[in-house]
Amino acid sequence: MKFNPKARLDTSQVRRRGGQRTSSGSPLPGGMGGGGFPMPGGAGGGIGSIILVIVIGLIATQCTGASNIPGLPGGDSDVSSAPDNASLEACLTGDDANNSQFCAIVGTVNSVQAYWVDALPDQTGQEYRQAQMQEFTGGTTTECGEASSAMGPFYCPADEYVYLELGFFDAMLEGQLGAEGGPFAEAYVVAHEYGHHVQNILGDLSNAQSGGSGPESGSVRVELQADCYAGLWANHATTVEDENGVVFISELTEADIQLAIDAASAVGDDRIQERTQGQVNKESWTHGSAEQRIRWFMTGYEKGDLASCDTFATATL
Ligand SMILES: [Zn+2]
Repeated sequence: MKFNPKARLDTSQVRRRGGQRTSSGSPLPGGMGGGGFPMPGGAGGGIGSIILVIVIGLIATQCTGASNIPGLPGGDSDVSSAPDNASLEACLTGDDANNSQFCAIVGTVNSVQAYWVDALPDQTGQEYRQAQMQEFTGGTTTECGEASSAMGPFYCPADEYVYLELGFFDAMLEGQLGAEGGPFAEAYVVAHEYGHHVQNILGDLSNAQSGGSGPESGSVRVELQADCYAGLWANHATTVEDENGVVFISELTEADIQLAIDAASAVGDDRIQERTQGQVNKESWTHGSAEQRIRWFMTGYEKGDLASCDTFATATL
C-alpha cells in the first residue's frame, strides 16, 4: 500500500493520546470493573472473556467483554513504547503517511470515511456521519466505559468513536496473534471498526447485542459484515479522493490484500482459541472462524457493493 505523497490528510478526524475527549465525563467508578463495560468473568476475565478481547473489535459491537490481553503487562509500559511518536500535526500529506505508522492510520481513516461519505448514500440513501478515531496510550474514558492500553481496537456506539491503541499492532496482531502485519493489515483493522460505525448508522449493530455466540450467532454475523465492509473499502481504496480530488492511496498490490487476509485469519475465533486454549469451541465464537473472516472480507473486496455483505440473510455464513 502506498499513499499518494500529494494527498492532503485531514487530521481533524483523529485525536492522539493525551487528548481526552471533551465530551466524556469523569472516569467511571470501579475502573475496569465498573461502568459500561460489563466483563464476563470479572475483572481478571475467564478464558472466555480473554478470548473475546483479543479479537478485533469485539467490544466494538456491544461495549462488552473488556479485559486484559493475556501475557501482556497490565500496565502500559511495553505496549506504549511500541508505536511511533509522530504528532498529529506532523501528519499532513500522503508522504507523511508513507513514513509513519501513525500518519498511515490517519490517512486510512480519511480514506475509509471518504469512501463511505459517497458509498453509503449512493447505496442505501442514508447519509454518512463522520466518526472520530481516538488513539490513546495507557487508558482513556469512553461512553462505553474505561479503555485500557491492553485492549484491542473497538468502536463505541454510544459516543461513535473508534478507539485504538497503536501498541495493539506490534504487541498483539504481529506479536501474540502471529500475523505478518504491515500497513494494509492495520488498514483492514481500521476499516473493520469503521464498518461497525456504518452498521450503527444503518441500525444493524443492535443485532449483536442479542446475538449470543456460536458460528451462526448474531454477534458473528455483525462481525463478518464488518469484515465485508472492510473489503468493500479495499475494493475502492485506490479511487477514494481527498478534498482536492487527489487519491489517498495510489497503490494497492495483491501482496497487500494477502496481508489483510493474513490479519483476518489471525483474529479468527478458531485461531485464537487454538493459540490460547489449545482447542476450538465453536459455541463461544463471537467473531467467526479464520475461514469465515477471510471469505467475507474477500466477498466485499471482490463484489464491491453493500448488498453483497448481507450476512444476516445468508444461509451460508
Ligand atoms: Zn468487530
